Amino acid sequence: MATVVEEEEHHSVERKMVPNGKKFHVFISYSESDRSWVGTVIQHLQNDYNFKCFENSADFIPGRKITENIEYAMSNSVKTMFILTEEYNKSYWCQYEVEFAILKLLAEMKENVIIPVLKEECEIPGYLRPFTYINGIGDMNVWLPKLALAIEAQGEQYNHELALNRVKDAVNRNRNLDLLHEETSRISCRGPVFRWKYVPESLSIPPMKVSSELYNEIIKTISSKRLVLGRHCRNCWWPTMLLALVIVLPTLGVGLAFIGIAINGGTSDLIEIISVLMAFPSVAMLWLAMCCCSEYWGQREMRHAFLEFNRRLIPNKVMVTYKRQRLTANFTICFLFFDMTSCVNHMASELLNKRIRENPTRDIVVLNMNDDDDEVLLDDTTEDSVTYNEQETVTNNLLDLSSAYLQDYTNEKLEHAGDNNRHATKAICICQFAESLEIKKNANL
Ligand SMILES: [Zn+2]
Repeated sequence: MATVVEEEEHHSVERKMVPNGKKFHVFISYSESDRSWVGTVIQHLQNDYNFKCFENSADFIPGRKITENIEYAMSNSVKTMFILTEEYNKSYWCQYEVEFAILKLLAEMKENVIIPVLKEECEIPGYLRPFTYINGIGDMNVWLPKLALAIEAQGEQYNHELALNRVKDAVNRNRNLDLLHEETSRISCRGPVFRWKYVPESLSIPPMKVSSELYNEIIKTISSKRLVLGRHCRNCWWPTMLLALVIVLPTLGVGLAFIGIAINGGTSDLIEIISVLMAFPSVAMLWLAMCCCSEYWGQREMRHAFLEFNRRLIPNKVMVTYKRQRLTANFTICFLFFDMTSCVNHMASELLNKRIRENPTRDIVVLNMNDDDDEVLLDDTTEDSVTYNEQETVTNNLLDLSSAYLQDYTNEKLEHAGDNNRHATKAICICQFAESLEIKKNANL
């Protein structure tokens, strides 16, 4: 027993000084399923390399919010290690708070302090891609020295602003098209259509920050639309009614007529009965036509309403769309994260290039534009940069397409361009959608 204590004391004496007035060399963020593996790594780092590691379970302050604990851990550690596994990615995606903690800390820090460690073959989350990772697959003795070097390396000075923007871009690209919230109508015809009360947290946190006024306005406006009000009649009852009017009632009528003829033996009433029966399908057709008209106008009205809300939600990086369930007649308003800035900038620069190409008499001007980050200058005074009007035109064009785009997304009809997905990872972004429509249109001409 005594030897153990001595050994521990020996280690605590030998332990390296933590630089920059911090308490720990490294904080390790990992998924619960990797606990024992991480335990081994920590043991090696502490015993073989004399680092002071922040250990999740032992060093977290009980009673504190998890985000506060993480912020505390990260700000008191020189470096932060992320142990990346499939499991970690899964558990991590929904934790916006953690992601924001990283952004917040990055904003406060002056040095590059993040070390992603790949424990198994898995996708590296977008916001960690800007950082050099350690390949932790296979023999620990091979990569542990590299990890130790990375922990020990003085945080190299880097363009803080640029790094922060790269992380933000990556976060936005991954988030684009993420479902933030769904509001589904009540099944009952009585009472309010939606059961909402407050702005859900997923919409109220930054960068969305949807105000309660706007949120309530969206819900109230959509509630009053004819597609929502008439959802029960159209979605459930019309197939039943149609079936009744076109098939069941006439068949029943004809059956009764034949029974009547059989009993009375006469045929004089037959024509009269058939002509009366013919009225049923006519009524059904008329009713169906009315339904179709109502549906058409309802959809138009809905598109218009959503277009206006999407225009107002651009600064919140949110888009709204809807879906309808055929069987339950439920109407769902879907709030998605979508940052349109990159798409607008991309389209605007395309428009600018076209304008320059179509105006060959002018001198060739070298543009101060970088294709990589879609930087667009907003300057009305020169003809060599995107004008405010062009920016507006592009925004309006994309907004006009937003309904079709989002409907395709919610109905899982949107294409996935693989590695060529431009501004969203799950599927093509709205500027790619616009281009694909243009290509289809040209092909049909
Ligand atoms: Zn795009």
